[in-house]
Amino acid sequence: MNYKEKWDMESIFPGGSGSEAFQKRLSEVRDSITAFSHELDNWELDEHSNDFTSLKGILQNYEKISNALGEMGSFANGLVSADVTDQKAMQNLNAVANLRKDLSSQNIILNKKISALTEDQFSKLLEEDFFKPMHFPLEEIRQKEKDLLSTQEETIINHLSLDGLQGWNNMYNQLVASIQIPVTEDNETVYYSAGQFENKMKSEENPKHREKLLKTWEETWKKKADLFSTTLNHLSGFRLNDYELHDYKDYMKVPLDYNRMEEETLDTMWDTITKNKAPFKKYFERKAQLIGVDQLGWLDVTASVDVGDYTSKRYTYNEAATFIIDNFKSFSPKMAEMAHRAFEEQWIEAEDRPGKRPGGYCSNLPESKQSRIFMTFAGSTSNVSTLAHELGHAFHSYVLRDLPLFNQRYAMNVAETASTFAELVVSNATIENATSNAEKINLLDEKIARSATFMMNIHARYIFERNLYDERQQGTVDSNRLQELMEEAQKEAYQDALRSYHPMFWATKLHFHITGVPFYNFPYTFGYFFSLGIYNRFLEDDTLLEDDYIALLRDTASMTTEDLAEKHLNVDLRKPDFWQEALDSVHKDIEEFLELTESYV
Ligand SMILES: [Zn+2]
Repeated sequence: MNYKEKWDMESIFPGGSGSEAFQKRLSEVRDSITAFSHELDNWELDEHSNDFTSLKGILQNYEKISNALGEMGSFANGLVSADVTDQKAMQNLNAVANLRKDLSSQNIILNKKISALTEDQFSKLLEEDFFKPMHFPLEEIRQKEKDLLSTQEETIINHLSLDGLQGWNNMYNQLVASIQIPVTEDNETVYYSAGQFENKMKSEENPKHREKLLKTWEETWKKKADLFSTTLNHLSGFRLNDYELHDYKDYMKVPLDYNRMEEETLDTMWDTITKNKAPFKKYFERKAQLIGVDQLGWLDVTASVDVGDYTSKRYTYNEAATFIIDNFKSFSPKMAEMAHRAFEEQWIEAEDRPGKRPGGYCSNLPESKQSRIFMTFAGSTSNVSTLAHELGHAFHSYVLRDLPLFNQRYAMNVAETASTFAELVVSNATIENATSNAEKINLLDEKIARSATFMMNIHARYIFERNLYDERQQGTVDSNRLQELMEEAQKEAYQDALRSYHPMFWATKLHFHITGVPFYNFPYTFGYFFSLGIYNRFLEDDTLLEDDYIALLRDTASMTTEDLAEKHLNVDLRKPDFWQEALDSVHKDIEEFLELTESYV
């Protein structure tokens, strides 16, 4: 079998970014939104009426429009990713974003109207077959609405947030774009952008040079520390004011509600992780010996370990596809079947060529009921993992494809479950198939370092952000204090095990400055250990089958996170047991690493 490395976009809209079919669709959807807004405006339900026929029609139309925007958005965004110079594709993408904004204004009104139903009407509504499966998301809309102020007040906040919140994020992006870092190349000083320098720093193989680069990196950002502290203070300040207006007592309410999880679950997760950090001390010491330093520095934790006769295995695209499909099959034939379709029907853009956007993602085509995966495949094992990861996302969408739209909207903490799961299946297979000890050590180290990122690096971000919000409630936090808070958080999270830290991390990391969701950190750690826990259960328990896994995925947007785990895994996420099981497998990896590397030190 010879799989093509380019994706098929013609079957979605023929003609690329100049597609006439796309333009035609765009204006049709624009008209649909106008018609929808009239339909919604005109719908008024008498409080004694139990006739929900019109509401059914409204939800069906909303779903149709939303799916059309999803289909067009994935198409336009895909073309931009595949050729960053494609101006027409960029225009198409902006046009879709504009329509999305229009639909989301209608969404506010729709939510208000759903929430205006009396309790009596709502329970009658849920007796109808059409609405029954939407119980959880509709109930959630009604609950959230209770927290909101009047439509007028919410609209005012929304309008002011454009300059009061989004504006500071724009400012942050501008500041980052102004960062220029001096690098000496052939006795000449050239200037790198932040992104370029970060790549250079992370791919530098010599630990001494790495440390020096980190120093330059820190010093450059420090020069603008006061400006970055202004943006960060206003971003967090706006949120705190917003919470106060809504009378939210705790700044964790919004991030927890968004992820549909309880504080107790989050606290138990971090507590259990903290209790399981001790083995990392030995791992860090061994890794330091292997790469030839006294103690690991900030950047050394994720540096690659190359011992003895190490040669990394390379894969052709076809080999990678076959490897992934075969390994998926051993766990879930349905997942393998979908992956096979994805390769065969060209859902994947993998070609290694200039002009493509970096990174990888998976986007959904709700109308075609397919996905499109974007990445650049250059043949490394980490490329194979990325491919598996994105196919995991595609599988998640695939198993949800026939559910109502509202039941497909899963949160960030469970979004990474299917993807991490697929990645685990494949990356564990690459470790098992390693042909030399040196290769095995390299791959195992990569896996443990990934666990360290979720247990320590992300933990530091979480500790920092909590302390930031605590202090910000009392007033602004200056740049020196921010550096102190960051270094303290890193030392706490890494248990003082490193030689150097990254105090300016609060400025260099974009995630602290995004406006969409606050606390853009713990959902990552949750997703990783949740899927690791599920994976281990399936390995150990023969009675669990692929359909049980699929059933869990299908419920990811239909209940709280605690209920999801209770129903499908019979575990209580508020208790440490489940987390401990997942962490035990990290210990096993560390033990194996220590054993394998014994002879190299
Ligand atoms: Zn992902």
